[in-house]
Amino acid sequence: MIEKVSHIGIAVKSIEAALPFYHALGLEVEAIEEVASQKVRVAFLPVGKEVRLELLEPTSTESPVAKFIEKKGEGIHHLALATTNLQERLQELEEKGIRLIDKTPRPGAHGADIAFLHPQSTGGILLELCKENH
Ligand code: ZN
Repeated sequence: MIEKVSHIGIAVKSIEAALPFYHALGLEVEAIEEVASQKVRVAFLPVGKEVRLELLEPTSTESPVAKFIEKKGEGIHHLALATTNLQERLQELEEKGIRLIDKTPRPGAHGADIAFLHPQSTGGILLELCKENH
């Protein structure tokens, strides 16, 4: 069901300002794209072959990520686990009483379908399930 850790989402005020640190670690940007629905710019930095860091920079004060940074500051925003059959998985979880933020998958960065689970049901973690399509 859950295949692996897909990525770790990190909220930053500015991707450009954050990058020197990641470059110092020896990580490189694979792609930067804008996800209009979430009002964020996203930079992907592969860590090994399977996992990525996802730097999330708000493009509007209305962005959920802008609100996160306002409340909690920059830092780890969400954990994403890769799964197959995302819609089925969401239905199963809902039947088990897990609170969902997204009841149906929506398009995320990197061509993936994504859905968030509510931190109330996950022990305080904003958990993203994603079906990678690449
Ligand atoms: Zn993500």
